[in-house]
Amino acid sequence: MSDRDPRPEAYICGGSGQSGPEELLITSRRVYLGKTTEVARALPDRVIRMVGAWCFLDHYGPEDVARSAGMQVWAHPHTGLQTVTWLIEGEVEHRDSVGSLATVRPGELNIMTAGRGIVHTELSRPDHPPMLHGVQLWVALPDAARFTEPSFASYDDLPHISGDRWRGTVLLGELAGVTSPARTFSPLCGADLEAEPGADVRLQLRPDYEYALFVVEGSLTAGGTTAVVDQLLYLGCGRRAMELATATGVRALLLGGEPFAEELVMWWNFVGRSHQEIVDARRAWESRADQFPPVVAPGERVMEAPPMPTVPLRPRPRRQAAR
Ligand code: MN
Repeated sequence: MSDRDPRPEAYICGGSGQSGPEELLITSRRVYLGKTTEVARALPDRVIRMVGAWCFLDHYGPEDVARSAGMQVWAHPHTGLQTVTWLIEGEVEHRDSVGSLATVRPGELNIMTAGRGIVHTELSRPDHPPMLHGVQLWVALPDAARFTEPSFASYDDLPHISGDRWRGTVLLGELAGVTSPARTFSPLCGADLEAEPGADVRLQLRPDYEYALFVVEGSLTAGGTTAVVDQLLYLGCGRRAMELATATGVRALLLGGEPFAEELVMWWNFVGRSHQEIVDARRAWESRADQFPPVVAPGERVMEAPPMPTVPLRPRPRRQAAR
């Protein structure tokens, strides 16, 4: 995905300092990508800008794309992050500037490490399936890894966890004693949980991680707070276990990670550390410098970067101070 907001807001995240357990309910914003596609954006939020290294969460669909072109996200750059694409329904074709060509399908994790710079396209083929439903998340790379070589990997052998009337897929990191094969650069985890009506899900957590649940379908209750579709329930740090109940049945993402200590500057499709880095990345994309080689997609079209904000992007805490 790409942020197509013509005047994207700058989110400056990071900073140390852990909180204890809490329940903070966040409702996604509606964001238009291009003329027709609308997504729910849960991260970055004005208060909770990150969960561990997870710094971006878009939920799109379920959308009937039978009579439309479907996803049409043309060539655009990324730096300093990993994109994590997880489809619930449909198909998307991924191409990138390191030569990858992959069909993204439900149940397969696609993870693109932008590192110092990558370009990709995400397109529905003309003969695409009628429905499109998925999430795209970004993981910020820590300073030691953010200039790493760009790469792309696809995993169709992710480990599963299960209990009475529920099951889950571990996308990244470790949860409930099983570990995803996907490469990560900071301590974090991500899982897709599905529970039937009436199920009680109990999971061991790490007290040094902060966690959040994002509802993709149905509804859930955790710690006395109920979350519905497109809501993110931030759970804070310091928990050794989590209980999740659902009256309706639910599909939800569990995101967790060590609170990300570094301060970030996130703007458009770039994650950096300073205003100047963002200016440089934007300029490199405009001039198609070596950092951003062609994708070589048939009939490749290119997304232009929006104008820089008129005020410099300044560091702020990773989380907005208490209101
Ligand atoms: Mn993208």
